[in-house]
Amino acid sequence: MYYEPTEKDAPAAEVWSSELYLNFVPRLFERLRKEFGEDIPLLHDAHHRLTPMEAGRLGKSLEPYHLFWLEDPTPAELQEGFRLIRQHTTTPIAVGEVFNSIYDCQQLIREQLIDYIRTAVVHAGGISHLRKIASLAELYHVRTGCHGAVDMSPVCMAAALHFDLSVHNFGIQEYMRHTEETDRVFPHAYRFSDGTMHPGDKPGLGVDIDEKLAANYPYRRAYLPINRKLDGTMHSW
Ligand SMILES: [Mg+2]
Repeated sequence: MYYEPTEKDAPAAEVWSSELYLNFVPRLFERLRKEFGEDIPLLHDAHHRLTPMEAGRLGKSLEPYHLFWLEDPTPAELQEGFRLIRQHTTTPIAVGEVFNSIYDCQQLIREQLIDYIRTAVVHAGGISHLRKIASLAELYHVRTGCHGAVDMSPVCMAAALHFDLSVHNFGIQEYMRHTEETDRVFPHAYRFSDGTMHPGDKPGLGVDIDEKLAANYPYRRAYLPINRKLDGTMHSW
C-alpha cells in the first residue's frame, strides 16, 4: 500500500476483496507470531475498508495474536458504528488520522469505543487543539498515537514530537522516514534511532525550511491508487 502519491500519469488500480482479506489476515498474524514470537508489538491498518460487522469479525479473529492496535477498521464518520465493533472484540482500536477537530472523535472517546486517538497536528487544529483532544482522551483511558506517514512534513513530525512529550497519555508516535531530498529541504533537529525518536535540543520546533533548495522540486501532479473489487467495481481505498 502506498502512503504518498507516487503514480505520475494515472492512478494505479489495486484489487480488493473483503472476503479474501478477512480469511487471509488471521493466517498472516498466526505465521508472524510463530516466526517472531509473542513479544514483538504488531500493528495492522485496515484503511477504512470494512463494515463495522466485518471489522468486529476481524478483531475477534486476531485476538489470539494480541495486536498492539487495529487501525481504521471502518470509516469513522459514523462514530456510533464503533459500538458494533466493541461488542465483538477486545482487539485495541486506533482511529483519527483524517480527523479535523475534537468533534470528530468526542463520541468515540466518551463512549470508550477506541483505545488510541491518531489525530495529527496539521489536520486537527494545531498543537493547542490537539492538547484539548488529548486531555479529553486522558479522562477515558484513551492514549495518543499521532499519524506520522510521509504525507506529514518534517514540520508536522517535529510538532508531533513536542506534543507527544507534553501529554501524560502519550501512547506511540507513527514515523515513516522521509526521502533524503525532503530531509534536506527541511533541516531538522529530531532524530530516530533504535526504534525511538528524540525532538533534539534546538529552540522552537527545531525544524527549518530551505526555500532555495525547495525551488528545485516544483510541484508535479501525482495520484494515490484506486481500489477495485474482483468484479471491477470501485471500493474505498
Ligand atoms: Mg493509516
